[in-house]
Amino acid sequence: MATGKINVSVENIFPLIKKFLYSDHEIFLRELVSNGTDATLKLKHLISIGEAKVEYGNPIIEVKVDKEAKKIHIIDQGLGMTADEVEKYINQVAFSGAEEFLDKYKDSAKDSGIIGHFGLGFYSAFMVAEKVEIITKSYKDEPAAHWTCDGSPEFTLEPADKTSRGTEIILHVAEDSLEFLDDSKISGLLNKYNKFMPIPIKFGTRTETLPKPEDAPEDYVNETVEVDNFINNPNPAWTKQPSELSEEDYKNFYRELYPMQFEDPLFHIHLNVDYPFNLTGILYFPKLGNDMQIQKDKIQLYQNQVYVTDNVEGIVPEFLTMLKGVIDSPDIPLNVSRSGLQADGAVKKISNYITRKVADKLKALFNENRADFEEKWNDIKIVLEYGMLSEDKFYEKAGAFVLYPTVDNTYFTLEELKEKLKENQTDKDGKLVVLYAGNKDAQHSYIEAAKDKGYEVLLLDSPIISHLIQKIENDNTGLTFVRVDSDHIENLIKKDENTISKLSEEEKATLKTSLEAYIPKAYSVQLEAMDSQAAPFIITQPEFMRRMKEMSQTGGGGMFGMGNMPEMYNLVVNTNSDLASSILNTEDKTHQEHLVKQALDLAKLSQNLLKGEALTAFVKRSFEMIK
Ligand code: ADP
Repeated sequence: MATGKINVSVENIFPLIKKFLYSDHEIFLRELVSNGTDATLKLKHLISIGEAKVEYGNPIIEVKVDKEAKKIHIIDQGLGMTADEVEKYINQVAFSGAEEFLDKYKDSAKDSGIIGHFGLGFYSAFMVAEKVEIITKSYKDEPAAHWTCDGSPEFTLEPADKTSRGTEIILHVAEDSLEFLDDSKISGLLNKYNKFMPIPIKFGTRTETLPKPEDAPEDYVNETVEVDNFINNPNPAWTKQPSELSEEDYKNFYRELYPMQFEDPLFHIHLNVDYPFNLTGILYFPKLGNDMQIQKDKIQLYQNQVYVTDNVEGIVPEFLTMLKGVIDSPDIPLNVSRSGLQADGAVKKISNYITRKVADKLKALFNENRADFEEKWNDIKIVLEYGMLSEDKFYEKAGAFVLYPTVDNTYFTLEELKEKLKENQTDKDGKLVVLYAGNKDAQHSYIEAAKDKGYEVLLLDSPIISHLIQKIENDNTGLTFVRVDSDHIENLIKKDENTISKLSEEEKATLKTSLEAYIPKAYSVQLEAMDSQAAPFIITQPEFMRRMKEMSQTGGGGMFGMGNMPEMYNLVVNTNSDLASSILNTEDKTHQEHLVKQALDLAKLSQNLLKGEALTAFVKRSFEMIK
């Protein structure tokens, strides 16, 4: 038997590993199963190039828990190691790696973003074990070796009688890590980290019910058998070519990824690139609606089919973190902090590629089946609109598929919309005015009024729409957006009409004075001769002010410093309405005040501005009136 001292300068490196990597102890299993997988794939390669002249067979990796003896076994049928190789790869390579790791990350260990993503390798076994054994037999014609180490730099290495090819790692689980002797704990970890690894992983057995034979008697009881329980799917969908997969395969893989998710995804995007970086994956668009908060962090990042993390911030453009799916790339450096990731050139390329690929796919879906795309619009728009705001590359491509629906569910692209606008539908700067509503119910009367005049009214109801509108306007599109209840609207509606005022200039002046006597200062009163059927009192808000306010509420607007902007309203009074005449002509001042206040309250009510005490008073007053 040989004994020796591992060549490390730190007297006892394991307490350090434990301390620094405390929160990520569980990754030991991922690391050891990965080593077994690597050893198996290496063997396969050696056989394929004629280096190894052995049968590959159907190698598996087995994980066993021995609760009584407090041991975990990880057994592979890979290329194994000779005693010399153990000396070299374990005593020298693995341990110098450990030292290097500690040197490098001692100080930054608090930046937990890196821990656990870093390939800790073999010695992560010591995060849960007080003693580790390796029993290994190389594919080469050499005796098996048995290595033992208790966490101190001393180890023993002796011959073993193992005859089958491969490596068995035995962990003697430490007292503070006994939780890892739980079957459910281990199967949970295998499911989390190893679910899609390329070599079958066996953990225990399960009972399977045999099918009932054709000629079974009535009282037949189904037979059961114990079968090996395999944890993983070694050939997940993303490793295949899109041409090999059907719609159903993609959906099935989605269910495999998210077993608790009952709703099918809307569509998928298969990522597949090998130059200038290697990346595969499948992204899914789930049904999103208007809620931006849900769904984040559902994309899983893998490296060569080994799960790394579900925090893909910095790798996937932020707007796409609302999607689901997997990304697999060995080219993402994980031993750097999050901010380092964002600055990394390769990672930036990956992020740009994903953005481009998503845009291309959306365009294809739009062109292939527009009706279907329109149907899904409301569930995907939040991602697309956010993408337009946050990624210029995406914004440039978005014109081809981003839709602007009307209140009547007709969907236009921006170009199509421009065609639809009336020639004279312009503001004072000559820009084409796009009318839109933010809420069909709240702005119902305004929408109706605009539609009556033959205008298209869009329904733009995303929480971030005001930011997007602002961006489109600033982009030389020649468009300006105006919400149906904003102050520009009467100009537009009026423009169409040559409505003659029923009131003389003198009467108008008198009416204005009477109105201003009862209307609060926050309102600026404006008299307009409109169709006599139009509402007598209409409250509008300046488009600019309202939009800035919305923008500051949905973030990003902080820079405008307008969180506390004053409320400003216009009260537009239709001088051709019967009510305007009544207000003007009544002799009774009390009655006049009554009319004005009631009309103002009604106008407020239709803008959702009547609340609390004022609303109570209004309701009470209205009951009095109809009594
Ligand atoms: P890494 O896997 O990153 O090289 P490790 O510390 O995990 O680092 O392992 C060090 C070396 O030990 C490996 O490169 C490999 O040569 C050898 N090794 C580890 N586990 C096994 C195994 N199960 N079978 C064969 N060789 C192994």
